[in-house]
Amino acid sequence: MINKPLAPGSTIGIFGGGQLGRMLAMAAARLGLHAHIYSPQHNAPAFEVSKKQTVAPYTDLNAVKEFASQVDVATVEFENIPLDTYEHAAKYTTIAPGQTALAISQDRLAEKKFLSSHGIPVAPYFEINRETDIVSAIYKLGQDGILKTRRMGYDGKGQIRLGANIDPDVAIKAYNGEPAVFEQLVNFNLEISCLVARDFKGEIVFYDCPRNVHRNQILAESHVPANIPDDLEKLARAFAAKIAEKLNYVGVLAVEFFAIGGVTDTPLIVNEIAPRVHNSGHWTMDACVCDQFENHIRAVAGWQLGTTRRHSNTMMVNMVGSDMDRWDEVASSEGAILHVYGKDETRDGRKMGHINYLYDID
Ligand code: AMP
Repeated sequence: MINKPLAPGSTIGIFGGGQLGRMLAMAAARLGLHAHIYSPQHNAPAFEVSKKQTVAPYTDLNAVKEFASQVDVATVEFENIPLDTYEHAAKYTTIAPGQTALAISQDRLAEKKFLSSHGIPVAPYFEINRETDIVSAIYKLGQDGILKTRRMGYDGKGQIRLGANIDPDVAIKAYNGEPAVFEQLVNFNLEISCLVARDFKGEIVFYDCPRNVHRNQILAESHVPANIPDDLEKLARAFAAKIAEKLNYVGVLAVEFFAIGGVTDTPLIVNEIAPRVHNSGHWTMDACVCDQFENHIRAVAGWQLGTTRRHSNTMMVNMVGSDMDRWDEVASSEGAILHVYGKDETRDGRKMGHINYLYDID
């Protein structure tokens, strides 16, 4: 717990050095706070914009101790930091968010159980521990589903999609014996997310919900306003606030939803939660008074949260893989705000940057 706001000159430790860590470090620097990045990768994108860096494996608990002893608070830009690492850091500094949020979001099954226990709808699922469970899952939920590994899955990684015309043997053959869940395919109308920031006192602020478009299971675009009914936005906020409260969460939290069309008992289903700043909140950098990165830093540093007021309509477009070859064209086009993550290698499916387009609010 941080009782008194950390003054400029204090240090925020960040586990993870990807683009989210980079944008967090830049937000911290703007407030006069120093970022100390911990990453196992010697060329992490966050390194070039941070005051201090530690390059060490997450499992090096001596390095973790040394790092944690040098920072005023430690946070994460990536939820799959080993729990032992995060808990070890907590012996030497304040951590925010707490380890429960990480523990739950690291395991799809634990996450679904947590959400269901608080009355928050999730897609019908079946726990998979062995090959024969896949047959039982298909028998119970039908063949239209996705087999997802419980751990380390994101952006469609670790997922096998089945379907009415696909032989279940394909999934059985591809199944590698890792604990997984079989999730029924949700026939959603659209996808939205809700981003909240919560501080140590329990104050919560919300950003407007973006409508998100995925391609190849990777976020491609976010549109704000989402043009969804007010009731749906209110429900998304209520679910997100409940999750943040139940986790006694500090920082920015993202909740991804499937919105089901028509009149249904559960107009929203949670797909997943991310205990960190989120790709579907990148538009806040240019369309809001205080963006998600600054609000995360404010929350973990014990500052008053900033206003989430949106002054523009906006569309965020991700630059994935070779999309970045167009950087020159984008940089020269009127009204396109380009953000480049400084990754030294372009790979298929790798997030390299994003573009925010702004429009007047009518
Ligand atoms: P995930 O990695 O679980 O966040 O999934 C990435 C994307 O895949 C989601 O944003 C959806 O577009 C799609 N997806 C994942 N699970 C389901 C599901 N049960 N039903 C329909 N689409 C899904």
